[in-house]
Amino acid sequence: MTKYEYGVRRAIVIEQVPGKVDMDKLVSLCKRRGFIFPSSDIYGGMGACYDYGPLGVELKNNVKKAWWKAVIQERDDMVGLDASILMHPQTWVASGHVEGFADPLVECKQCHQRWRADHIKDGKCPACGGDLTESRMFNLMFKTFVGPVEDEASVAYLRPETAQGIFVNFQNVLNSTRKKLPFGIAQMGKSFRNEITTGNFIFRMREFEQMEIEYFVRPGTDEDWFKHWVEQRFNWYTNLGIKKDNLRLRQHAKDELAHYARDCYDIEYLFPIGWSEIEGIANRTDFDLKQHSKYSGKDLSYFDEETKEHIIPYVIEPSAGVDRSVLAFLADSYDEEKDKEGLRVILRLHYALAPIKVAVLPLSRNEKLLPLSREVYNSLRNCWMVQYDDAQSIGRRYRRQDEIGTPFCVTIDFQSLEDEQVTVRERDNMRQIRVPIETLASTLDAKLNYEPLEVLPPGGKKWLGFD
Ligand code: ATP
Repeated sequence: MTKYEYGVRRAIVIEQVPGKVDMDKLVSLCKRRGFIFPSSDIYGGMGACYDYGPLGVELKNNVKKAWWKAVIQERDDMVGLDASILMHPQTWVASGHVEGFADPLVECKQCHQRWRADHIKDGKCPACGGDLTESRMFNLMFKTFVGPVEDEASVAYLRPETAQGIFVNFQNVLNSTRKKLPFGIAQMGKSFRNEITTGNFIFRMREFEQMEIEYFVRPGTDEDWFKHWVEQRFNWYTNLGIKKDNLRLRQHAKDELAHYARDCYDIEYLFPIGWSEIEGIANRTDFDLKQHSKYSGKDLSYFDEETKEHIIPYVIEPSAGVDRSVLAFLADSYDEEKDKEGLRVILRLHYALAPIKVAVLPLSRNEKLLPLSREVYNSLRNCWMVQYDDAQSIGRRYRRQDEIGTPFCVTIDFQSLEDEQVTVRERDNMRQIRVPIETLASTLDAKLNYEPLEVLPPGGKKWLGFD
């Protein structure tokens, strides 16, 4: 949470990092191939809002699925929630957002562009070099009105974080699930911030998605649980293929911490624009539950059966951005290889994240290949997102799939009509093997789960690369 008066925020270094993929290249690939478009493109775009296209929505959904699986499906101590975006306005008074969710704003006296003061390096306007006004605090929450009357009593806010929806549901979840401490609630969804300086593609948007956890623990056990979550969350990114060298932990200095926070680490990724936050993990003590208890008048304590005491749990909050994760996964997986046909662009996405898992490519548009090709396609799309492509040369089609990160291409040729086998080509090393159609789905399933193929399909050749 951006509580400027509670802590000093670090300026973000905005420059192209040598050796990292050019941000412009990513933006253009995303638009060309249907990952991400500027919002309301035909009207010239809407500042810092983006739309996810056919491939982008698959990638983004896969990121969210992987998070949900790691933090809920595979844990006994976590449950999910989907709270509404519009909440009672008192929520934001209690949480401190109405008072303090603000960034320092300066305006150029010459060109009148506005900037976030903590993003300015030399005291001059980054656009024209003009002098800047004194900074003033600017609240980042979007205000709206609920109902037909636009007066102070009907003011509501678009939530600037999903976290508060969890705190206000603490008792509801506790009563309905009978969870015992320690336990956590996770939710993901849209958040809105009227950011002063935007840019850098989907890194900083005004409408974005978050994946947040509030993990409730007994006071005194909070430091151990904090360590646990920092480690878990760091490993989540590397397990999904982010290179360790491109990820680091940064502990907040004392002057950066919110007044109630005991400790906070940012997980930072080496974006093309430099090291920047991808997720924050904070030990928020009992601040939020106490605040909501005070403002709502409701008891938000937990009755500890062991000690027969009412306690207010401490909270560990891992708070990640969906869009920043998507950007990190795209930047980290982007690769180029020179070959005899020019340049092979590959998105080496983790298989779990790849928008399309398998492409079915008949060798040509020859009618004889059509029935078998459609049959293979129909059988596989039952299991995964599969694309059928018969336009242009097979080489070009492989390239197209590499560029969108499709792990496997299945080619049906004239030989397939005779021997009921197809060629499977692997994205990362371009190796090819023949696989019987009968065992194609199970072979691909094992490969997509990174399983070594110890049991070979009958009549199939051993998969190269797994000795
Ligand atoms: P920053 O310092 O970059 O503004 P923050 O510290 O205010 O971020 P948090 O309030 O901790 O961010 O939000 C948690 C996560 O939500 C961030 O780590 C980031 O991934 C994501 N996030 C926050 N603001 C934005 C935004 N404007 N656009 C995209 N993602 C965002």
